[in-house]
Amino acid sequence: MFENPYVIGVDIGTTSTKSVLFAKSGEVVHKSAVPYPLLSPTHATAEQDPKAIFSAVIKTLRDVVSRIEPAQVLCLSFSAAMHSLILMDEQHRPLTQSITWADNRSAKWSTKLKNSEQGQRIYRRTGTPIHPMSPLVKMLWLRNEHPELFEQAARFISIKEYVFYQLFEQYVVDHSIASATGLLNLQALDWDSEALEIAGVSPKQLSTLVPTTHICQTMRTSCADTIGLPADLPVVIGASDGVLANLGVGAIQPGVVATTVGTSGAVRAVVDQPKTDPDGVLFCYVLTQDHWVIGGAINNGGIALRWIRDQLADAEIDTAKLLGRDPYDMLTAIANTIRPGAEGLIFHPYLSGERSPLWDANAKASFVGLGMHHNKAHMIRAVLEGVVYNLYLVLETLQDTIGEANSIRAAGGFARSKLWRQMLADVFNREVMVPESYESSCFGAAILGLLALGEIDSLDVASDMIGTTYQHRPIAQNVQVYQRIIPIYQRLLEKLQPEYAILAQLQNELESQPLNEEVNG
Ligand code: ADP
Repeated sequence: MFENPYVIGVDIGTTSTKSVLFAKSGEVVHKSAVPYPLLSPTHATAEQDPKAIFSAVIKTLRDVVSRIEPAQVLCLSFSAAMHSLILMDEQHRPLTQSITWADNRSAKWSTKLKNSEQGQRIYRRTGTPIHPMSPLVKMLWLRNEHPELFEQAARFISIKEYVFYQLFEQYVVDHSIASATGLLNLQALDWDSEALEIAGVSPKQLSTLVPTTHICQTMRTSCADTIGLPADLPVVIGASDGVLANLGVGAIQPGVVATTVGTSGAVRAVVDQPKTDPDGVLFCYVLTQDHWVIGGAINNGGIALRWIRDQLADAEIDTAKLLGRDPYDMLTAIANTIRPGAEGLIFHPYLSGERSPLWDANAKASFVGLGMHHNKAHMIRAVLEGVVYNLYLVLETLQDTIGEANSIRAAGGFARSKLWRQMLADVFNREVMVPESYESSCFGAAILGLLALGEIDSLDVASDMIGTTYQHRPIAQNVQVYQRIIPIYQRLLEKLQPEYAILAQLQNELESQPLNEEVNG
C-alpha cells in the first residue's frame, strides 16, 4: 500500500500554476508555483499566453517530482481556472491568447443576450450566468466582431484542454470545465444545441466530454521525460478550481458553505441536483456526475487590499521591507488597531465592476461616511470589512435558493490574516473553519484523483484528511456592530447603484480628454 504514497494536485490558476505533492493521507509534502502575467493591452482585455502556462505546468511538476522517487507517485490530478477561451487552427496552433474570465470585451454581446428570453433559457439549462466571462458570450462577440478570425478556428478550447492536448495529443474536456462554458446542458451533461447555435460552433469544434474522474494515458514521452514521471502514469482530468475548492475545504455536505477570497472570491455549496435561480445570478457547475456546485462569484476579493497596498501604502511597504515582513501583514495589523465597524466608515469594494450580487460591470467603489477623525487605518479596516459585507449579500442570495447555511469553510489568500478570518465569522455570524493549507483547489484535485483510482470510496473522506485548521467563532459584541451596519451598507448600495452607469460614462469620457496645456505649462 505504501509503494505509491503520493498524489500530485496541479492547479492552473489565473496568476500562477501550482503543483502540490500530497501524501496519500492528505499532508502537503512539497509545493511549487510559477507565476505568469495577465496581458492587458486595453483596459477591457485580460489574456494570457498559453505557452507560458504550459511551461509553468511542466516546471512546477518537474520541481515537485524531483523531491521524491517518481515511482512513488500514484497519479496526477488537475484543477484549472474556469471560463478561458483559446481558438486553435487546423494545425493545433493557437490563433489567440487564452482569453480569461476577466476579459470584458464581449460586454455588449453579454447585455444583448442577457436581456433576451433566449439568454434566460440558456442560463437555466447551462447554469452559467450570461456575462462577458462566459465562453459562450466570448464566441458570440468574436463571431460578430472578428469573423475572419472566427472562421479560421478549427477548435474552441479552454486553457486546460490546451495543456491536455500538449500532454496527450487529445482534445478532452471534463464536465466541470465544460459546465462553465455556457454551452453544456447540466441535466444531460452534453452540449446544448441552442447555445451552440448562438455561439456558431458545432460539436466537432469542441473537445470530447468526459467525467471529472476520467483518466488520460499515455503522456507524450518528451513531456513525461522532462517532468521525470513514467509516461503511463494515470493522469486524472479533474475539474475546475471553484468546485474543487469546495471539495478541498470539505464543504460538500448540505448546509456547509465554502467561501474563497483570493484575488476575486466566491460563496458556494454542493447540491445533488443542478439548480439555478430565477434572477440568473447564481452559477451551477459540475463537480462529479452526482455533485453540482451552486454559488456566486465576486470580482472584488483580495484585489481590494491589493489596491490599498499598491496605491496608498508606500510608507508601509518600505517599513515592511525594513522589518522583513509581508506588506499585507503590516496592513492588516494597522487595520486591527481600529474597532469593528471602522467607526462608521463604510466601503463598497466595487473597484473592478461586480458579478454577484450586483452583476453590474459599471459598479464603482466608494467610501461612505468619512470624517476628519478617520485615518488610513480606518480606511484599511473598512476595505477588509467591505469585502466581507459584499460576500454576506451573496450568502443571503444563495440561502434563498438552497436554504440555511450552518457552517462556513474558508480558503484563499485572505485566510493568511487572522483578523480577516475572524471578520468573516463575525459578519456571517457563523462558525468559520479554515484549513491551514490554503491550496484547496489542488487538494480537491488530489482527492478526486484518489476517487478516480478507486483508492477512496467517496468524497466524504475530504473532511477527515484536511488536517490542521483554524476555527473562528462569532464574537457577540462584533456581531452586534456588523448587524447594524449591514442594512446601511445595503441601503447605500441601492441608492448608489443607479449612478454607476452615469459615473462609468463620465469616467470613460474624462479618461480620453487631453491634459489642459495652459494649466500644465
Ligand atoms: P489568487 O486568487 O490570485 O490565486 P491568492 O489566493 O493567493 O491569489 O490571494 C491573493 C490575495 O490574498 C491578495 O490580493 C491579498 O488581498 C490576500 N492576501 C495575501 N496575503 C495576505 C495576508 N498576509 N493577509 C491578508 N491578505 C492577504
